[in-house]
Amino acid sequence: AGHLLEVDNLHVEFRTRDGIAKVINGVSYHVDAGETLAVLGESGSGKSVTAQTIMGILDTPPGFVTDGAIRFRGKDLLTMGKDERRLVRGEGIAMVFQDALSALNPVFTVGFQIAELFRKRRGMSRADGYKRAAELLDLVKIPAASARLRDYPHQFSGGMRQRVMIAMALALDPEVLIADEPTTALDVTVQAQIMDLLAEIRRDRNMGMILITHDLGVVADVADRIAVMYAGRIVEQADVHALYGKPCHPYTLALLDSLPRLDLKGQELNTIKGLPPNLLRIPSGCAFHPRCTMARDICLTQRPALVELGGVRSSACHFAEELYGRE
Ligand code: SF4
Ligand code: MG
Repeated sequence: AGHLLEVDNLHVEFRTRDGIAKVINGVSYHVDAGETLAVLGESGSGKSVTAQTIMGILDTPPGFVTDGAIRFRGKDLLTMGKDERRLVRGEGIAMVFQDALSALNPVFTVGFQIAELFRKRRGMSRADGYKRAAELLDLVKIPAASARLRDYPHQFSGGMRQRVMIAMALALDPEVLIADEPTTALDVTVQAQIMDLLAEIRRDRNMGMILITHDLGVVADVADRIAVMYAGRIVEQADVHALYGKPCHPYTLALLDSLPRLDLKGQELNTIKGLPPNLLRIPSGCAFHPRCTMARDICLTQRPALVELGGVRSSACHFAEELYGRE
């Protein structure tokens, strides 16, 4: 049997005034019920665009899928009819965005926005919609939930507003929840609370979860697998313990190196040298070569394929086997 949600060899381009930006260049990943896949990468790596393509909201700037498939329960979202696709959105797959303030409508109360969702999608009366809205706010642990139905988005703190977003995403009982940098705008304590909430909900509802982040530190406790993206490709994918225990791609190694370490308090972080590539002019060979401390001649001309290592991981580096074989 196939996977619950499967992205298969996806290619996406943006046509810009300056030329064609190759934003997604053959991404494949999947998620099943009850598991969390973390998708990790710097901004511009294609992690958000992949999610937007799954949700069918790839509109600014104009993006085009040039190859690949996105299967939900075996059916390709990219070729199904509009009505069917609309049903999948919200009921099959829902998304939580980074910026809750702009994702919520500022002129309506939170209760009204959730109740409307139930009215439109479930044919509920407004009164029943409000009742369900209160239950949802309670589910995401917003104190005094029923009293807060009358509040507008700006009346919530950043963390509480992100909980409102999560409540809305859960409204239609999705089987897959995609969270795109759900905690980036929040302070560290609130970040941890939101991650705990997401993990708990994922467990209770046996959902599949895709957690998109640029912060390797955030996902260690909640992810089952991690896919690391660079320049629109997956450069390493592994079970979370394998990835932390023995990263097999120089980019992952560099990311782990740049994590703050408790035993090195006060020291400067090692940040990765150089900038993410310009997607209008992706470097030849391995796209990471201008920043890679291990790069050799072959890296400038030949693009490394994603190869499997030991069955539970894959890496796209010419020296992946060497990295895998080290002590
Ligand atoms: Fe570095 Fe070469 Fe591996 Fe790319 S293929 S990550 S440049 S060693
Ligand atoms: Mg993003």
